Amino acid sequence: MFVVFEGVDGAGKSTQLLRCQQWLVELGYPVTVCRDPGSTSLGDRLRSVLLDRSELQIDNIAEMFLFMAARAQLVSEVIRPALATGNVVLCDRFLLSTVVYQGRAGAMDPQDVWRIGASATGGLSPDVTLIFDVPLQVALTRIGDRLDRMESRGEEFLAAVQRGFLAESAMLSGARVIDATGDAAEIHEQVRAAIMPLLAIR
Ligand code: ADP
Repeated sequence: MFVVFEGVDGAGKSTQLLRCQQWLVELGYPVTVCRDPGSTSLGDRLRSVLLDRSELQIDNIAEMFLFMAARAQLVSEVIRPALATGNVVLCDRFLLSTVVYQGRAGAMDPQDVWRIGASATGGLSPDVTLIFDVPLQVALTRIGDRLDRMESRGEEFLAAVQRGFLAESAMLSGARVIDATGDAAEIHEQVRAAIMPLLAIR
């Protein structure tokens, strides 16, 4: 089972991913955790190019392909092998993030990003995509001044990202919007409710 955690930075993805991992391990499931971009040597290098604040000039299309390259490596090196051995894979962001940040809120056609993404992932898509939704001010307060290269593009951009996630969620199979405004324990209950039916099928 492949579960992806999505939403703006500060929505609480990493916090919930960790809780979810602890819960599944307690239930006895083998769990693999990863983040996109990252979780491979190539992906970690590309992540620092893409997200660390720097003066490096990156063209919109080049940027999109760098995310896709990291993702292709993550799928082949980590996610597919883990799924093949029966692990539950929990991934912090995936293709939907590129569709939203570089497509809906960016310069590219979201449909083009989906198509290129399908090549990068070899058609692998999550069984469930949890989209953590919070008012922007809540997310910004949670992250304080810890903005990366994507998130430091201004509030208008972040508002477009948030609208983009919601718009895509309406069309994406397996998408579940999680109200991430409450406390972590309450949000975790929503995560359990979203994942539980899939565990039962497994
Ligand atoms: P993301 O991975 O989406 O960027 P994090 O899980 O890293 O978000 O959370 C961002 C910050 O907000 C962290 O300092 C975290 O401790 C805090 N946080 C996470 N969830 C909540 C919550 N439900 N209520 C208040 N603070 C939270």
